[in-house]
Amino acid sequence: MSDPFAIDDMPERAAGKPVPAAAPAHTPRAGGISARAVAGAARAVSAQYLEGLNPEQREAVEALDGPVLVLAGAGTGKTRVLTTRIAHIISTGRAYPSQILSVTFTNKAAREMKERIGHLLGGVGEGMPWLGTFHSIGTKILRRHAELVDLRPDFTILDTDDQIRLMRQVIQAENIDEKRWPARALASMIDGWKNRGLTPARVPKGEAEAFANGKGQKLYADYQARLKTLNACDFGDLLLECIRLLQENAGVLAQYQDRFRYILVDEYQDTNVAQYLWLRLLAQRPQNPDSQTKPTQNVCCVGDDDQSIYGWRGAEVDNILRFDKDFPGAKVVRLERNYRSTGHILATASHLITNNEGRLGKTLFTNGEDGDKVTVSGSWDSEEEARLIGEEIEALHTKGQQLNQVAILVRASFQMREFEERFITLGLPYRVIGGPRFYERKEIRDALAYLRVVRQPADDLAYERIINTPKRGLGDATLNELHGYARANTMPLVQATKVLLETEEFKPKVRQTLRDLMLSFDRWAAMLDTHKHTEVAEVILEESGYIDMWKKDRSADASGRLENLKELIRSMEQFENMQGFLEHVSLVMEVAEGESEDRVTLMTLHAAKGLEFETVFLPGWEEGLFPHPRALDDQGRAGLEEERRLAYVGLTRAKHRAKIYFASNRRIHGSWNASIPSRFVDELPEAHVEVTSGGPSFAHGRGGYLGSNGGGSRFDRMTPFQSSTYATPGWQRAQARSNSDAQDGPSGKNNTRGGFDAGPQTEYRGAGATAPRKPMQIEGEIIARSSGTLSRFAPDDRVFHVKFGNGTVMAVDGNKLTVNFDKAGQKMVLESYVEAC
Ligand code: ATP
Ligand code: MG
Repeated sequence: MSDPFAIDDMPERAAGKPVPAAAPAHTPRAGGISARAVAGAARAVSAQYLEGLNPEQREAVEALDGPVLVLAGAGTGKTRVLTTRIAHIISTGRAYPSQILSVTFTNKAAREMKERIGHLLGGVGEGMPWLGTFHSIGTKILRRHAELVDLRPDFTILDTDDQIRLMRQVIQAENIDEKRWPARALASMIDGWKNRGLTPARVPKGEAEAFANGKGQKLYADYQARLKTLNACDFGDLLLECIRLLQENAGVLAQYQDRFRYILVDEYQDTNVAQYLWLRLLAQRPQNPDSQTKPTQNVCCVGDDDQSIYGWRGAEVDNILRFDKDFPGAKVVRLERNYRSTGHILATASHLITNNEGRLGKTLFTNGEDGDKVTVSGSWDSEEEARLIGEEIEALHTKGQQLNQVAILVRASFQMREFEERFITLGLPYRVIGGPRFYERKEIRDALAYLRVVRQPADDLAYERIINTPKRGLGDATLNELHGYARANTMPLVQATKVLLETEEFKPKVRQTLRDLMLSFDRWAAMLDTHKHTEVAEVILEESGYIDMWKKDRSADASGRLENLKELIRSMEQFENMQGFLEHVSLVMEVAEGESEDRVTLMTLHAAKGLEFETVFLPGWEEGLFPHPRALDDQGRAGLEEERRLAYVGLTRAKHRAKIYFASNRRIHGSWNASIPSRFVDELPEAHVEVTSGGPSFAHGRGGYLGSNGGGSRFDRMTPFQSSTYATPGWQRAQARSNSDAQDGPSGKNNTRGGFDAGPQTEYRGAGATAPRKPMQIEGEIIARSSGTLSRFAPDDRVFHVKFGNGTVMAVDGNKLTVNFDKAGQKMVLESYVEAC
């Protein structure tokens, strides 16, 4: 079936040919072929696509004239409404596939939607040229009219590294001190402006002044000019330049308004201002001058205010709330029946989200069975958490669960490493969505390159990778020179560097830098003989300036990268030395993803939006990790609510099994951090949740944090923890609560932390206001798992430790004691290291 509006007819139209008046919405015509005729075949195979929809869904699908908003909770069929609506539009001959603009948030979602439409229409959905993400569609439009915004059609799209490089040039050209005003900070500021649809001329004065003493706006303008010279766009431009194109070229705008007879948007709650402006421009379909009808505005947006999780990236949930103001007379459809999750899962998620104040509120029900309760399990530490989850997945797989139907959704990407390693050990196929696998991440590769070059100086690739990372003024010219010499004398690059340093080959500045670098390499290599390899790794990353590079980086992913680097060092601890660790990594990196299609999915909660799985594992529900301290620090109460929405998104991805985990200890940057379960765990409804005993540390009636003897957790009465002999130390839970209660200020910064500041060595800065963090160190290398045997000590006993002196036992867990030392403060120590006194 041919579509006369097939995609390639647009350039001619763009070249200024008159735009034909819009045909009546129900009979699009081109080349004399009516869409009704085109739709004939589709109708024949799709007679049943409306069947099975509930009345409200059907109403939303069939309301084809005028604006429609579907505002409904998770799993109620919003995406299904969109796909069926597209099928309905095509099959009733309202429009050709190429006249439908359909926007989703991820490429994965776009692919799935195409498949679903194809399925509904027996293949017709394949030719949906305007179904994609905001950015992919923006790019397509921009390429067609590039010259109108001073670009050529083959413009390049810069990645973040290129973007930063360019910003740096712009900053240098203005003689601004880049140490004070880093390029990354400017990049993140400009990104923010672009997300809000602000061109340089429109940046509010006060905001532009915040950077480099009032030069922010000029730098933004210079940067845009540089992009034009390079015939390049950054990610934000794909929409912003598109908006400018449409605003400044009425003819082009009219063509697209005319073309897109129907506009559909999924996940509308997460649109930012730029996306909103772009949509509004395209949706204002002009009135047909020959007819008496009103502008058609056939826009259908679907969304859920409870799933708005991109506020930190400029999304405005208000867009969905003011839909009927933008599109007066909009039909608003609410869907309440959830088709995805079993009763307990739905009830748990719905209950959790009621703790948010800023929401519209909605009821959800399911006619399905109650199913399994949501489980909450504790583990001793994150390693045990990964092991338990690995075991559960294997057991499910044995019972016939497809791995494709299992997902692990984490709050922070550093959590993934432990799962990846576990899966590799188990031989369990997995895929990481939305980012590279742990050891393939840029910051991890860079760090490994440093370690390799120190341990194995002949590793040229590693040396090349880090010689100028962070920037040290050792550019291509220096590297070429080194290469030339190394090749001619068949020696490794590091050796070539050392030889050339004895000559007059390099300019003084370069020579000095290279000399410093070589001295550092030698010093670090020598340290490997005298110090623990993890300490050396820390020193290398600090002294090389690599950590600092990311600390100064203000881009959104910088802190995640720092977390990953800490996780890398943590992961080294289980190896005896650097060599052992590097060998392990090269083996792990060689494990290919394999051909198997049936794989466990590992992704962040943010990336999981819109997806569904039979079984969903939700690890790391701990204060200090989830809710993420950064969200609380930056946005206070609003940040907490966005984190809770993220928890809601996570739970509602599950069809039949949702499994929450928390670990009592997370080792961060070499030091143990005792964690307490996330406040979200306490907010779960008892009736729908089952607390299962986790690993060894939670067996034998040993209480984890859920079994408080001093706190008042709603789980206290639940088995198996009620009989716990050892429990969350009362002080800890009480502390948690008092902090939690005190959370009233916007960022909660006024709260006391009872002197238990985790200190700067950890990324988890006490969860802002609310998470009590107690830095705890386990003395001794090997920590025996709790065996269930009673300790010879009890709380309040006085003890003596050879390193920390006298102290009072606060809590006992197997062979580990939490002791408040008179001088050294709170520590966790092995029992065998202390004496009664
Ligand atoms: P989210 O908010 O997570 O994006 P959603 O509202 O978009 O969810 P869908 O993904 O469209 O929900 O639907 C959830 C599940 O329910 C899907 O498996 C879908 O096929 C199924 N479903 C939706 N409507 C019906 C229906 N009328 N009959 C049977 N199954 C349905
Ligand atoms: Mg959806």
